[in-house]
Amino acid sequence: QISLAILSVSKYVLLLNLPSLYADATSLNNLVAEISNAYAGNLPDEEPVQYIVFSDWQNELLESQEAEIGREYWQQKDITHIFDLKLPNEKLLSNKNRFEPQIFTHIIPNDLSIEIIRFAKKFNTTESTLLLTCWQILLWRLTNVSTMVVGTNCDGRPEEELQEMLGLLAKYVPVICHLEKTLKFNQVLQEINCTYNQVYEWQDCFNWELVLGTDTTVPFFPFCFDFIEQKFNSLVTNLVTFSLSLQYVCFDKFKVKLSFIRTDNSLCAEWHYDSELFLSEDIERLAEQFNTLLKSAINNPYSLISELEILSDVERQQLLIGFNDTRTDFDFSRNRCFSQIFTEQVLRTPDNIAVAYENQQFTYQELNNRANQLAHYLQKLGVKPDVMVGLCVERSPLMLIGLLGILKAGGAYVPIEPSYPLERKNYILKDSQMPVMLTQQHLIADLDINAIQVVCIDSDWPIINQQKNENPITKITELNLAYVIYTSGSTGKPKGTLIPHQGLVNYLSWATQAYAVEQGVGTLVHSPLSFDLTITSLLSPLLVGRTVELLSEKQGIETLSQALTKSSNLSLLKITPAHLELLKQQLSKEDIANKTRAFIIGGENLLAQSITFWQDVAPNTILVNEYGPTETVVGCCVYQVPVGKHSSGSIPIGKPIANTQLYILDQCLQPVPMGVAGELYISGLGLARGYLNQADLTALKFIPNPFSNKQGDRLYKTGDLARFLLSGDIEYIGRIDNQIKIRGFRIELGEIEAVINQHPAVEETVVIVSEESVDS
Ligand code: AMP
Ligand code: MG
Repeated sequence: QISLAILSVSKYVLLLNLPSLYADATSLNNLVAEISNAYAGNLPDEEPVQYIVFSDWQNELLESQEAEIGREYWQQKDITHIFDLKLPNEKLLSNKNRFEPQIFTHIIPNDLSIEIIRFAKKFNTTESTLLLTCWQILLWRLTNVSTMVVGTNCDGRPEEELQEMLGLLAKYVPVICHLEKTLKFNQVLQEINCTYNQVYEWQDCFNWELVLGTDTTVPFFPFCFDFIEQKFNSLVTNLVTFSLSLQYVCFDKFKVKLSFIRTDNSLCAEWHYDSELFLSEDIERLAEQFNTLLKSAINNPYSLISELEILSDVERQQLLIGFNDTRTDFDFSRNRCFSQIFTEQVLRTPDNIAVAYENQQFTYQELNNRANQLAHYLQKLGVKPDVMVGLCVERSPLMLIGLLGILKAGGAYVPIEPSYPLERKNYILKDSQMPVMLTQQHLIADLDINAIQVVCIDSDWPIINQQKNENPITKITELNLAYVIYTSGSTGKPKGTLIPHQGLVNYLSWATQAYAVEQGVGTLVHSPLSFDLTITSLLSPLLVGRTVELLSEKQGIETLSQALTKSSNLSLLKITPAHLELLKQQLSKEDIANKTRAFIIGGENLLAQSITFWQDVAPNTILVNEYGPTETVVGCCVYQVPVGKHSSGSIPIGKPIANTQLYILDQCLQPVPMGVAGELYISGLGLARGYLNQADLTALKFIPNPFSNKQGDRLYKTGDLARFLLSGDIEYIGRIDNQIKIRGFRIELGEIEAVINQHPAVEETVVIVSEESVDS
């Protein structure tokens, strides 16, 4: 289709539109040159080769002996994985199912363009190879797929006589490159240079059947690369002046195609993208990352490709600082430890009910008096700051008195579940070297307690009861330990995580405010103390004068569903996704609405499908996904599910809580771009001191924070894979290692393997998780 638009008497625009089967970029250049030459009266002496002649040659060539090598070359390549390649922010934006590419154009600044030419010369390669190499490396960094394939435009005109021809000779041919973090930029450049030459040599022989076998779907390269030299600048004859205003060629589908247009005095990058899959801002960010990487490579050609910079200053600032702007002053100067804040609350609400259990209840004053008596007693046994005290008491007010008594004495509690296997209990006693343990008379049997002073909070109460009930005095600071929780360890032994008051107080100060605990009547406690998520429901009400209702350990989830049915206006319910699922099965719709102001869901990945039911039947209940390892105190980031909006897949884990920073880093501890998966690292007030008696493991998991200029700041390496969404919310992806969760309980499969391996008849063990549906 040809049209001529007359703009004025002396200005015309010629529009040439050809079906993509007829022409490639070289054809268009040739055609324009031919037309302009005709105006100048320079008709070619010889006709260019006709397509029919070319296609005969082509057939002959493909049947020849020589082409066999080329066919073999392609047959050996396996590129099927490219159809799964996805860029970080890629998603189907509509269901139009039409390929409507858009272009984002970026002019390469002149000085950089000169640098590119100089660099290519120095490294004995071409501009085009240099740019392709950067594109390959960027794709690798964004997808983590080490065999990267870019469909690269080959002009199909290796012979001189084909240069002038018209027709679609060009095609995309895969340039395959194996990338890994130990390679240097110059090495990859050389490899791609070499591959590019081979590919160019065998371009004629490439076709999809050779690499894929026969397949009905029409394959295409998701990521492409063009380097077009636009030789036609402008031509002046005595009649007319020609210039090319726009040239666009598209003969194959792609997700993103990076096209460079080189003219005599400029270099322009055109980012062609499938507008069904990307927004213009996604592509602008991609272009920005490409430019950063290109400059970084030119400045550091001998650097590892994993260390080349890809984040622009703006994106880096956003990821490291913008998303982590969480400084909040909770007035730590006055209340630095949990026991101090609790004691102040007792003064404010002495007669409120602090704890209820079956038919017992205690006011704040009563609870405080008992905890004080116990604290004085414990102090006489030597409990003071940083002294660990075991707490092996069944869920009842005695458990809470015990916990508060230990903290008020200045000590740190170490939860030991009465239901634990004997071996695990004894292991904790031995590993912690705790001098004192608080328990109940009927729970002592068989425990290794020779070296331990055992206090039975039930049978010894008459003696404890003789102590004063005023608040004890301790020299405790926020850096002293509040508790030590044992979690599964991959070496076969659980490890004690040392949590100072600072982290506990920061979490609780944040949680009482964020979850507006004061606005409800209190909480139900149905989970064990050894599971740190229990802290939210057990301790947050006690800082705002509300009631903690303890549920008996005996019946499990039924107790919870019954208690929930009887409640109304609870401040919150802390629960794992697995519990949520069980509750749903046990409760009728009428039993659910308005029982609790909020569900705080944590402990494992939360799927959208687990909450749609609650969104529908309890629309006034706030649903919060809370994420956090024991090592950083209960929760370090949260996401509040938007009201009424159903979604699919995983629910994000959201943004960091007060005084907490989250980083998503690659293996070189560099921040990964928005949307790219990396390991989640946590820093801030919540960090544990480390693991008890495990200096090596502590050093491995708690590392210096490279983004902080404050001496001593550390990062906790979570082992969780995550990515930033554009909103700044974080999405949980999975584990890097073999740690799993069963109903929120954390288990390192290595722990089980290590134990089984101790058997002399066992050489090697693999433990896997197998799922059964809940109702079977
Ligand atoms: P724990 O120390 O028992 O709290 O276990 C911490 C681990 O549980 C994390 O490292 C995650 O793997 C997982 N986890 C905890 N909360 C969540 C959540 N909301 N979403 C996804 N995973 C979670
Ligand atoms: Mg947790």
